[in-house]
Amino acid sequence: MSTESNAPSPNGDEASQPKMLTTKSNPWGSRHGKVPQKKNFLEGVKDEYDVVVIGSGLAGITAANILGRSGKSVLLLEQHFKIGGLATWFKRPGGHIFDVSLHGFPIGMKKTCRKYWSQEIADRIVQLDKVTFDNPQFSFDTSFTREDFTDKLVTEFGLEREAVEGFFKHLRKMDFFDDSNMTTGELFEQFFPGRNDVHRLLMEPISYANGSNLDEPAITYGIVFSNFMSKGVYTFVGGTDGLLDMMRAELRKNGVDYRTRVQVDEIQVADGQVTGVVATGGSTTMAIRARAVLSNANLKTTILKLVDPSHFRPEFVEEVEAIRLNNSSCQVYMGIRAGESIPFVTDLLFTSTRKEFQSHSLSDLHGESRTFSFYYPKGRPEMEEQRYTIVASTNARFEDWKDMDEEQYEANKQQLCEETLAHLETYVPGIRSKIDYVEASTPRSFEFYTQHQTGSSFGTKFEGLQPSMNLHLELPGLFHAGSVGIIMSGWLGAANYGVIQANKVDAYLFQRAETQQV
Ligand SMILES: Cc1cc2nc3c(=O)[nH]c(=O)nc-3n(C[C@H](O)[C@H](O)[C@H](O)COP(=O)(O)OP(=O)(O)OC[C@H]3O[C@@H](n4cnc5c(N)ncnc54)[C@H](O)[C@@H]3O)c2cc1C
Repeated sequence: MSTESNAPSPNGDEASQPKMLTTKSNPWGSRHGKVPQKKNFLEGVKDEYDVVVIGSGLAGITAANILGRSGKSVLLLEQHFKIGGLATWFKRPGGHIFDVSLHGFPIGMKKTCRKYWSQEIADRIVQLDKVTFDNPQFSFDTSFTREDFTDKLVTEFGLEREAVEGFFKHLRKMDFFDDSNMTTGELFEQFFPGRNDVHRLLMEPISYANGSNLDEPAITYGIVFSNFMSKGVYTFVGGTDGLLDMMRAELRKNGVDYRTRVQVDEIQVADGQVTGVVATGGSTTMAIRARAVLSNANLKTTILKLVDPSHFRPEFVEEVEAIRLNNSSCQVYMGIRAGESIPFVTDLLFTSTRKEFQSHSLSDLHGESRTFSFYYPKGRPEMEEQRYTIVASTNARFEDWKDMDEEQYEANKQQLCEETLAHLETYVPGIRSKIDYVEASTPRSFEFYTQHQTGSSFGTKFEGLQPSMNLHLELPGLFHAGSVGIIMSGWLGAANYGVIQANKVDAYLFQRAETQQV
């Protein structure tokens, strides 16, 4: 991303204008494709492994780590030049480091990291100090713990304590197998009829966390909300770069052979079971044998593109074709000039100027709702310089962005940056003069960098869950782990799904070895 084009500053002060960076003249990137590579990124890769993992999102790397730790030979292949998938970060001129999806996750991530990564990683997970809601219907700060949220629903919204506790109790009782036909909207109506403000408070943070809306099955809401609504919202001290450094060290310790810039082109099948992959790493394309393949690529891509569909039952292919993808995201990354500081505002701000809540409007092009994540020096204490960044996120629809020509695309990105800066200015007056770098990403960016169809940020809708979980029953040796079904998404959902599926791979390999011995 390289060309600079300055958008007009409302105060007309050219010197204080942040630089808007666009992708206009960049010969590579989301609009122009991958940089061709002459190097062989597959050098030293063996002909055969127990397991090949396709993709290094949190589900893929967690699965690879567990399988490596249990003594399996594991090859992890990632098409991007960094591991992490959507759990990623990037550097920009001016010393800015931006986190893409490190905004907040449930406390459960601490246990997951301790059990399946390391105590050191788990020890760096800390609670956010403050979460803020501000919109025309309500405005307050919260720790986002169950106690505080209950208090807010009673004091700010005038609800009966028993009704709120009854709602939370109902949610906690829901589980995977509790697939009633009730939607989240119906669930809210049952407990808090006609309370658009309460529905907004309950839904907005979860919509940002997993792209869901009021029309999804209530079970998806129940599980994700209960995960969050316990002990607050958490983050990783050291930034996504720090986390991935520590994860890479663990992968190496556990003998996982991981390669970046390697595109898996095909999953190979013979006699009704998976036999390996064909992958291209720069100058070289290679067939690699494997007893099992675990794909962290998009579910639909895995089944419909990486495998020849003739290896599946036609009804299964039809079922997968009908799975709806989840929505995508836009982000605006804003870097505070070196040497400048901002006061502590909050860590996470859910804000909207929209009068009433309408869940689908959260994905509108140039909508009125966004979240701001504020990153202070406390988040990267090892950095010599005290640095601040702010990232604004909105849900977005790929359809709104996909057909824009270059000029429209650029203009819409500029508009997004401008609207975001204006919105931010209402919370941090004078912030424009402190920001020296602004950049926007869109659903097209997410599609390009992760290869998720339609730039889906949170995998598939609910119906993707069963085909993903049962993939190995359709094609022995093939497993999927990655954001699906709304429930298995977000940092915690993806990492935990990696654990679940790694255990299935382990069991499959054991069974195969047993059968071969007989
Ligand atoms: C803007 C945004 C903000 C978010 N904020 C939060 C948040 O605050 N908290 C939270 O918990 N979650 C958040 N999330 C969601 C969270 O980041 C994701 O749910 C999670 O990281 C997804 O992990 P995953 O395992 O599904 O894989 P992904 O991260 O989707 O990674 C898949 C990987 O597979 C690779 N791949 C695909 N195809 C191939 C191929 N053929 N060959 C080789 N490699 C391939 C891709 O390059 C990618 O690295 C956010 C997401 C977005 C987009």
